[in-house]
Amino acid sequence: MFLDVKELAVRKLRIRKTYAPGSIDFHSAEIKQVEPLEVTATAELLEGQIRIEGNFETKIELVCARCLEPVVEEVSRTIDLFYAPIPKDEKPTIDRLKDDDTEIGFYEGEGLFLADVIKEQVLLALPLKVICQSDCRGLCPNCGANLNHEECRCETHATDPRMAPLARLKQDWLKKQ
Ligand SMILES: [Zn+2]
Ligand SMILES: [Zn+2]
Repeated sequence: MFLDVKELAVRKLRIRKTYAPGSIDFHSAEIKQVEPLEVTATAELLEGQIRIEGNFETKIELVCARCLEPVVEEVSRTIDLFYAPIPKDEKPTIDRLKDDDTEIGFYEGEGLFLADVIKEQVLLALPLKVICQSDCRGLCPNCGANLNHEECRCETHATDPRMAPLARLKQDWLKKQ
């Protein structure tokens, strides 16, 4: 859905849009939308700026930082965003952004794609790091076993198959003495 400034100048737009999983590209193999993303919002032109106000929700599958198992995060966010046109002769500066408390973005040309706005907001809403459970034991750095599900084979050296040849050598050496 393209939010065209010329159309918004005529009337406020009511948005009810569903993005199926896969229709928004999050550019990451570790971020997977697993449920439809529902957006309910209004878009309007306010003193030359595009204002998008509303909310969205979906479920995103991430990867546990410790054990790499999938973790589903519920993502819902209320938004009230302003997008100003990028001035033709000057690039927006940090100072200009600081002048105002409201979060402000920029659009170029005729308007902006709602999917781009939503993608950015989903990424902002996601935690930097997720853990499947607070006491996730993670993976064994040696054998890669998921310690939540199985006992690590490295913990007991006697049963570690990689140690067996060494043990045999030692036995042979002892017999020869
Ligand atoms: Zn985990
Ligand atoms: Zn191990």
